[in-house]
Amino acid sequence: MIKKIDHLGIAVKNLDEVVNYYEKALGLKCEKREEVASQKVRVAFFSVGEVHIELLEPTDPESPIAKFLEKNPNGGIHHVAFGTDNIEAQLQQAAAAGCKLIHEKPFEGAANKLVAFLHPKSTYGVLTEFCMPKNNGGGGCCCSSH
Ligand code: ZN
Repeated sequence: MIKKIDHLGIAVKNLDEVVNYYEKALGLKCEKREEVASQKVRVAFFSVGEVHIELLEPTDPESPIAKFLEKNPNGGIHHVAFGTDNIEAQLQQAAAAGCKLIHEKPFEGAANKLVAFLHPKSTYGVLTEFCMPKNNGGGGCCCSSH
């Protein structure tokens, strides 16, 4: 079952520059940075209440984020991530409803989570991510290590 919007994924060309904007202009604090090899991105996280902002900068021209930036040179909202308590069941439900899955199986994404994406052509233009904490029971927050 979907529990919440976990985060918004935002594609950026220059992570440091955009982190600076979120800190200076919005007064938010960058809570965590990491590199996600599976998606060829560097990521920075902010918390806005229960929802996170995930800034994504490509580390490779083959990164899905690099391809997005080719079409959207200013960057922009890349995906919406729904937090679920059962990612496999969520994928099955979406597939049964006719959605095209980009990933048949969840894989390890940022913040120690299992993630999988639905194709935007089958979700009315919104690249949709499902995510679930990898070690369920940890509360599901990427900041639990703080
Ligand atoms: Zn995401």
